[in-house]
Amino acid sequence: MGVQNKESFRDSIGTINKEGKRNFIFPKQPKGKFYNYRTYVSWVLLSFFVIAPFIKVKGNQFLLFNIFERKFSIFGFPFWPQDFYLLVISILLSVVFIILFTVVFGRIFCGWLCPQTIFLEMVFRKIEFLIDGDRGKQMKLKKQPWNAEKIRKRLLKWSVFFAVSFFISNIFLCYIMGSDAVLKFIVEGPIKHFGILVRLLIFTSIFYFVFVWFREQACIIVCPYGRLQGVLLDNKTINVAYDFVRGEGENGRKPFRRKDNREELGYGDCVDCKQCVHVCPTGIDIRNGTQLECVNCTACIDACNSMMEKVGFDQGLIRYASEDEIEKSEKFKFTPRMIAYSVFLSLLIGVLFVMLTLRSDVQAKILRLPGQTFIKEGNTIKNVFTYKLINKTVENYDDITFKVLSRDAKIIMVGQHGRLKKQGLAEGTMFIAIEKKDITSSKEKLKIGVYSGGKLIETTTTNFMAPRK
Ligand code: SF4
Ligand code: SF4
Repeated sequence: MGVQNKESFRDSIGTINKEGKRNFIFPKQPKGKFYNYRTYVSWVLLSFFVIAPFIKVKGNQFLLFNIFERKFSIFGFPFWPQDFYLLVISILLSVVFIILFTVVFGRIFCGWLCPQTIFLEMVFRKIEFLIDGDRGKQMKLKKQPWNAEKIRKRLLKWSVFFAVSFFISNIFLCYIMGSDAVLKFIVEGPIKHFGILVRLLIFTSIFYFVFVWFREQACIIVCPYGRLQGVLLDNKTINVAYDFVRGEGENGRKPFRRKDNREELGYGDCVDCKQCVHVCPTGIDIRNGTQLECVNCTACIDACNSMMEKVGFDQGLIRYASEDEIEKSEKFKFTPRMIAYSVFLSLLIGVLFVMLTLRSDVQAKILRLPGQTFIKEGNTIKNVFTYKLINKTVENYDDITFKVLSRDAKIIMVGQHGRLKKQGLAEGTMFIAIEKKDITSSKEKLKIGVYSGGKLIETTTTNFMAPRK
């Protein structure tokens, strides 16, 4: 994709040295318009991350992914295992949305919205800049022997990182177990809930490991979304890109000298200051072209813009642009591939909307007892059924009764029944009896209404068996 240099840079990655060992990257702290915007966006997202588990909609946690009790709530909308199909459609929709978004805007998600980037660049890295200083100081500190300054800074940094990881784990647990449960554990203390403390410490260690040591390798080596880029991106995709036409000119990049007439000498606008490389958190040189490691963090845009300003050239040598825009000055167009993805996306949104609208708050299932057909009793034929009611709402339903709606029939309940608790389940057994003279078929579909306090809350159907006439 428009690479001006040789392809040899693809033979290695910035995070691993020639001996195959981890090469720590010390990116310079970005400064500029985009970094400021990303900081503001991160404030919004981090606040949302912390607050969301404490927001309740009609008593449901705004976002809950309780895999242990199989309780899920998305935007306050409770999902039961029975609603799994909705979850599948939502996941499919998110995947198509991400694909479409990536085809058009490249890895913009990685730089601006991905939790890994937000936590690493906007939380942990900022703390690091505060304690260790900028790139130069960090590199010096690493080489420094273990003197008082290094011990003090390392202990301080690692303790703060541990505390932040522990805090993130607590919030993370709120999404998994519910904020009410986590608050209860906190109030009652760790001794009473030692198992929870162990879980918290496991999560903390994972976050600590990822953000303190593993870092950008999560994006480069582990993240499947990053791996997809090669398939999704094309020449029309908008990415953070180096304008090699302008930057290289006819005779390549050249350090800036005031007396040079760069136009006459055929030099491009890139003054080879390497600021774009020094700020890059994944350790790449964007001037080599689009690379898998690039998370579109925009740090190189800010660095280059500031250099361009210093030397008096136009900004935007590195900018959001497609390959075709740079090479052929072609403006952005909606391609057939983008149209196809958009149509599919709209269809999925439509299907999800319809399914959400049709989804009932109470689910009823009435099934004939396995192995049973019918019982003859005087002038009536009886079938025995089991029923299962699921209440997906946060209201209790009292005084539950059933009524056959499609014909004359009598329902005889077996044992205790009558209450369907909020987000609860009620099961039981019942008989349905029909007078022999009214029976016209050996198998009849019955429509049954479920009532709470005399108010119809759900209808369902079941099959009634009778002897052949
Ligand atoms: S190349 Fe630029 S946008 Fe990509 S990761 Fe590096 S600094 Fe960020
Ligand atoms: S920051 Fe801009 S001018 Fe400096 S090396 Fe990178 S692309 Fe060239």
